[in-house]
Amino acid sequence: MNLDNIRIVLVNTNTPGNIGGVARAMKNMGLSRLYLVEPREYPHEEATWRAASAGDVLDSAVVTATLEEAIADCQFVVGTSARGRRIPWPLLDPRKCAERLDGVSDDQEVAILFGREDRGLKNEELQACNLHLNIPTSEDYSSLNLAMAVQVVCYELRMLLSADSLPKAEDEEWDSPFTTREQMELFYEHLEQTLIDVEFLNPTAPRQLMARLRRLYSRVRLDEMELNILRGILTETQKRIKGIR
Ligand code: SAH
Repeated sequence: MNLDNIRIVLVNTNTPGNIGGVARAMKNMGLSRLYLVEPREYPHEEATWRAASAGDVLDSAVVTATLEEAIADCQFVVGTSARGRRIPWPLLDPRKCAERLDGVSDDQEVAILFGREDRGLKNEELQACNLHLNIPTSEDYSSLNLAMAVQVVCYELRMLLSADSLPKAEDEEWDSPFTTREQMELFYEHLEQTLIDVEFLNPTAPRQLMARLRRLYSRVRLDEMELNILRGILTETQKRIKGIR
């Protein structure tokens, strides 16, 4: 996926401040191509003010008279909507939608459409889309502010890109190997013996102590370095006990 192939299309935006907020949300997440279909008021100082350091996104925004013009060359179009429509359409949440767009090759043009603040996208506009996107919300209030909806969608696209640069597994590039079952068993024997030595564990009435300690260490998933530290502590404790007695 290439974020440069993805354009954000705002249809008939009423509030210029929202256009600025959208530009900022996009730039924060690394998107730059903004299309404005017949905005009510644009350019506008409120848009510039809300864009903060994303003035370049506003400056390069493409203003069109119709939606058709804004998406004519697109191979994949996503329509966002706060509510369900009469005819069922393929519908995804932002994360699933980002994954789907990740599968669209870099030579394709992608558009994500956002509707009017008061009325959203019209049915015929939604029916021009390959896919619909809904941001899950509370049932009490499903309509997000326009710029915030853009933020959520662009954030999920960003997360897919960032995921590539982070280690895939939580234990990749760790600085010490993780312990084996055998090492853990030796550790538990050592721990149990030390607890008996310090008279914390009574071998005639052990209760669930070792089971609980096993569960504790299992949750942590120790590496060899950590295990060596713990075993060193046990060894020194045993030496002290034996020296004192
Ligand atoms: N009352 C309108 C909501 C408009 S909110 C309606 O019912 O459709 C303005 C735009 O923000 C919407 O057209 C959509 O593009 C986006 N948006 C707001 N809330 C959203 C949600 N929960 N899921 C997807 N898009 C949303």
